[in-house]
Amino acid sequence: MNTYSGSCHCGAVRFSFRAPEITCAMQCDCSICIRKTAYLTPAKVAQGDMEITAAGDALKTYRFGTMAAQHHFCGTCGIHTFVEPRLSPGTFRVNLGCIDGLNTLHLPSEIFDGKSL
Ligand SMILES: [Zn+2]
Repeated sequence: MNTYSGSCHCGAVRFSFRAPEITCAMQCDCSICIRKTAYLTPAKVAQGDMEITAAGDALKTYRFGTMAAQHHFCGTCGIHTFVEPRLSPGTFRVNLGCIDGLNTLHLPSEIFDGKSL
């Protein structure tokens, strides 16, 4: 397990988490992910491995449809930082673009069929 840290663009939302080494990205084609074009952690991060180190009032949550998935984002800069997926409440998929020192464009990616959910 490795420890990663990350933030939104303005830095109001900061977090760290433990995960296996990130060697690929997951892209989801559901109605919101395809609009965000986010590259996500391929493995879900357990709640106990996720620590939100700064957020205050900046961390906002968007829900739609079944209202089960929680799409978290920074209310100041608008950047989507992580999601608690509908199928796995209490776990997180992190926006890899928010992770310090990781270039998502240099990672292979796989597509998750979120559109069919
Ligand atoms: Zn921000």
